[in-house]
Amino acid sequence: MLGGMQDWDLRVSALLDHAAREHGAREIVSRAADGTETRTDWAGIRHDAVRMAQALRRLGIGKADRVGTLGMNHSRHLATWWGATGAGGVLHTINPRLFDDQLEYIANHAEDRVLLYDAAFQPLVDRLRPRWTTIAHYVCFDGPAPDAVGFDEWIAAEDGDAVWEPGGERDPCMLCYTSGTTGHPKGVLYEHRSTLLHAMAVSLPDALALRSRSCVLPVVPMFHAANWGLSWAGAMVGAKFVFSASNEAAVLLDLMRREKVTLVAGVPTVWLTLLQHLEATGGTLPPIEHAVSGGSALPAAVIEAVMRTGARVTHAWGMTETSPVATTSVEPPGWDELDFAAQVAAKVPQGRALFPIQLRAVDLDDPHMVVPRDGTSAGALQVRGPWAVKRYFKAHKDAMHDDAEQWFDTGDVATIGPDGTVRLTDRTKDVIKSGGEWISSVELENAAVAHPAVAEAAAIGMPHPRWGERPILVVVRKPGMDVSGAELCAFLAGHVAKWWLPDAVEFVDAIPHTGTGKISKKDLREQFRDYVLPEASVRIA
Ligand code: AMP
Repeated sequence: MLGGMQDWDLRVSALLDHAAREHGAREIVSRAADGTETRTDWAGIRHDAVRMAQALRRLGIGKADRVGTLGMNHSRHLATWWGATGAGGVLHTINPRLFDDQLEYIANHAEDRVLLYDAAFQPLVDRLRPRWTTIAHYVCFDGPAPDAVGFDEWIAAEDGDAVWEPGGERDPCMLCYTSGTTGHPKGVLYEHRSTLLHAMAVSLPDALALRSRSCVLPVVPMFHAANWGLSWAGAMVGAKFVFSASNEAAVLLDLMRREKVTLVAGVPTVWLTLLQHLEATGGTLPPIEHAVSGGSALPAAVIEAVMRTGARVTHAWGMTETSPVATTSVEPPGWDELDFAAQVAAKVPQGRALFPIQLRAVDLDDPHMVVPRDGTSAGALQVRGPWAVKRYFKAHKDAMHDDAEQWFDTGDVATIGPDGTVRLTDRTKDVIKSGGEWISSVELENAAVAHPAVAEAAAIGMPHPRWGERPILVVVRKPGMDVSGAELCAFLAGHVAKWWLPDAVEFVDAIPHTGTGKISKKDLREQFRDYVLPEASVRIA
């Protein structure tokens, strides 16, 4: 028996239709790298997206064809999210920070048919064009370019009198590759339904608390993990967007002030950069309402500094494989009665699952044993739900640890508290085991970056004749600041167990990063392949 409700597939085009109809005049502001600012609104985005869908159809793009983009955050890129999906295609946002071999692999593996790109990436496009085998059409967002039509000129040929390509809610709408630290990048193919459900969930008050009067500055790029779902969710609520091609602290702070931004979303590095800039210039954070951080653990020092300005902090955890948001640092009942230090401490863990995401931690050596939700037993974190990956794009088998029960292994290690609070303690791919006990490289790194002279720190395990492995800490000092290995260890001794202290601290000029800006432990381990642990450790007795 069917229910008695109307037939409405959950399709992302409905988000833009709603935004244009109910919030048509809500502004979308874009600041280019040269400082030029342009303004449009949700009605304008829809007008452009419909014309783009028409232009794509004219190129023969239809059901499930992949449309690639290589772009920073701006309104034309935003229109592309609906232009590609509205033509029935799949939006494939490519991360321009990846290496050439990965960029070649990704576009060919995705079989992108069209590529829309920023003029700033012209050298990259010129380099890769001979290696990309499926891209037949090039569109430059910023105007006509060699062998590419300009975006505005391309869509200007269309009349905007068209309807979105019809389809079902389980059709694919977006493809994102996750670079990881080993092997080829893997594609995660989101569906219309999964994307729409995710947009609804991330907008809720315990998550990003989005509403029509929100003014959102997504520092997280559109090409990273589906922009954390912000583009879709922003349309759903009719939020104002402020986009910036530059992530320079001064530029972002100026935009926050002038555009009256209420929500800023960025990885911890963004928050650290903003705070360091303010510290150096003696300025204060503009009065935003909400600071959202994800992608890496958010240090308590950052949470505290942002919360002191009166802003709410939401620490979120997720993965490209989970659309990406899966948990948010929910404020528990009695929040207002907590003292400031307790409130800061409550934001350090990664938070609680968004409905209907489910999480569990299983024993690291026995994946069939679920560890108790006691807040202290750590295990491999697994996730399942309607916006968690089932199978990577073109993979021959499902990606899940347990196909019958649909648990996906996140590669993260976490404790889960009795109230469901997830606290990440490490990653299975990056764990240090010493004397049969686990050492959390994440916590060592977090503790180290809390030192005022440390810009960045990475802990890696080194073979040790007695303990199996011992951690070393690789550190980049802040410019003009000094700290010795012994001083740093003395500092760490106040924050971590004594046996966790690194056997050595190595100072370097830079730590290698992956294309998505995370520390590349794989490259770092390679760099330290011939490293020999010092006889005398710098450990403080
Ligand atoms: P990505 O797919 O590139 O977004 O990477 C996802 C991974 O980033 C997760 O599996 C975690 O290892 C890490 N990650 C994401 N959010 C957080 C967070 N809030 N705290 C610590 N690690 C995080």
